[in-house]
Amino acid sequence: MSKKKLIAGNWKMNGSIAANDALVRAVIAGMAGADCTVAVCVPAPYLAQLQILRHCCALLLGAQDVSQHEQGAYTGEVSAAMLKEFGVRFCIVGHSERRQHHGEADAVVADKARLVLAHGITPIVCVGETLAERQAGRTGEVVKRQLAAVIHTNGHCISEIAVAYEPVWAIGTGQTATPEQAQQVHALLRAQLQAASGHADRVNILYGGSMNAATAASLLVQPDIDGGLIGGASLKAQDFLQIIGAAQTARA
Ligand code: PEP
Repeated sequence: MSKKKLIAGNWKMNGSIAANDALVRAVIAGMAGADCTVAVCVPAPYLAQLQILRHCCALLLGAQDVSQHEQGAYTGEVSAAMLKEFGVRFCIVGHSERRQHHGEADAVVADKARLVLAHGITPIVCVGETLAERQAGRTGEVVKRQLAAVIHTNGHCISEIAVAYEPVWAIGTGQTATPEQAQQVHALLRAQLQAASGHADRVNILYGGSMNAATAASLLVQPDIDGGLIGGASLKAQDFLQIIGAAQTARA
């Protein structure tokens, strides 16, 4: 039997107490009986508000980033232990917005993945090429380098991570990768994970980058696309629910 698809929303720096409450209630009500894993990765201050999700088996709680340090004098940062205390099940690491705006290098991303794994949280490791890198024919080289750093640091438990292939040119642009473009990269990543662990079939490899209700179905039926990391469309309950529905259909 194939593993369940994973649909994770990345709210980014959006939300309010009132809006979160309405969104989460609508998603839980609409996804009753969904046979895929669904999570929302929320801004850290809202983890406390969303503790209700710890007792709701349908929708899981996720975070968007974590400190690369265990604890100590790192003003403004949030540790993996703190995320664990708040019932976080997934944590995005190495999102392109962190790599681009906060200078996160591959080794830092690998350390973040190590720390969350050590606390029993699944890292969603983001990899992806810029438009310039794609146009220069460097997509494979770039994503393999990014994943190799995480494999190097976490080789012994690499099949416990999730990976999100997020082409930078597709994030927030409305320009979704074609199913063929995405599948090609996912197959490369699967082969790399297989060579490292022998258990690549256990790893959810998600596609992210302007996935929406219209594009989800054709992406999610690809053999190596095991789910989605959803930005903008995860902020609207109906759009997010349609993607969850597409994941169900793709699995059936
Ligand atoms: C993301 O930021 O992870 C993402 C995929 O965003 P969007 O769906 O808005 O492109």
